Amino acid sequence: MGDYYDMSEYEPLARFIWREHNIEPPLDVRGLCGELDITLERSYDLPADVDGLYMVSQAGCPRIVINAIKPVMRQRFSAAHELAHHILTPSPSPGVECRLPALPHSKTKEDVKCDQLAACLLMPAHLVADEFKRVKDNPTCRVAILANRFQVSRAAMYRRLCEIGLITQYRLNRYGL
Ligand SMILES: [Zn+2]
Repeated sequence: MGDYYDMSEYEPLARFIWREHNIEPPLDVRGLCGELDITLERSYDLPADVDGLYMVSQAGCPRIVINAIKPVMRQRFSAAHELAHHILTPSPSPGVECRLPALPHSKTKEDVKCDQLAACLLMPAHLVADEFKRVKDNPTCRVAILANRFQVSRAAMYRRLCEIGLITQYRLNRYGL
């Protein structure tokens, strides 16, 4: 298990996908969608309370649409979330499989699972732990450095570092994240 601890059951799956697709951080979400034959689009026409969609055409073609008005790092996380739906739903029926709500309390159980896999895909625990060793003596900037390395928001990196156990809950709460 090494010197980190991760609660997520999706860590091995994310690790497998990184190895299978020879991924280096930061994860190229668009590239991975391409390799998996998923169409990924950004749209300015989605309502503000929707971060993204995952849908399947009648012909069985998967498509992800991301709300382009959202911050770029949020768009990356939303794309990884929709990708997680694709990975966790082996044979989805045609139609909209996920309409990702912008507000966390509106999320379904399936959405919560997909958020977990998205976090693992964007920030695999073993790589985050490796990179953390290099920056741990720089408490002021380490989260920003890691967030930049993995191209996620600082809030997402805080949450992930806490999940993995590399920073304490106290620090997480103190920053209100
Ligand atoms: Zn979803």
